[in-house]
Amino acid sequence: MKLVKLLANLGYGSRSQVERDLRKGHVTDTVGKVLGERDFPPHAEIRFKGEPLDAPAPLTILFHKPDGYTCSTDDPGDTIYDLLPNRFALRNPVLSPVGRLDKDTTGMLLMTDNGQLLHRLISPKHHVPKTYRVTLDRPIEGHEKDLFASGELVLRGEDKPLLPATMEVLGEKEATITLEEGRYHQVRRMFAAAGNHVVALKRISIGNLALPDDLAEGEWRIVTEEEIRLAS
Ligand code: URA
Repeated sequence: MKLVKLLANLGYGSRSQVERDLRKGHVTDTVGKVLGERDFPPHAEIRFKGEPLDAPAPLTILFHKPDGYTCSTDDPGDTIYDLLPNRFALRNPVLSPVGRLDKDTTGMLLMTDNGQLLHRLISPKHHVPKTYRVTLDRPIEGHEKDLFASGELVLRGEDKPLLPATMEVLGEKEATITLEEGRYHQVRRMFAAAGNHVVALKRISIGNLALPDDLAEGEWRIVTEEEIRLAS
């Protein structure tokens, strides 16, 4: 039963689906020998429909989120899981986004089943900076940078001031903003508090890890240990 449990935990299907796949001969070793429920070769030698298995936990991926997808598992509309292999939503533990992005925010999303890493990357205590590229509706006026850096800005409906954030002006209506926390709709609400409106928002880096140029919107890949170190 170990093989059934492993495949089910990696999200290849429910236990009964995995048992069916085993009976159909979909699970083999590297030379194509069909495996049964009682077989349990080393992880690297197991093939599911000819493909190597995903790594067991911890697994972290880097995903370039497109516009129009929510970061939820149970949203009835389009979710990021629609763009990823089905098994990523079915893994136990599930692969969860490291800090959600709004439906209309694009860019860099790490997804992990590593609870410690998740906590480290999203907890404001660890001060992991996240940088966003912002396109605004109206020209930047000049007061925004100091307002965001002040550590005194209180968003509407809240009473705790935001941590200081860094803004760099890139053009009349373009800027980057770097935050060390992730409150609900934070960047959009910060610019609303400054009298402007965000028309496009893209996360371009987490810690010292930048969104790679060769990862197109909708694409994902497994991150390396070195990339995890850079992000955290
Ligand atoms: N700030 C926002 O307003 N939205 C995001 O998706 C991320 C940061």
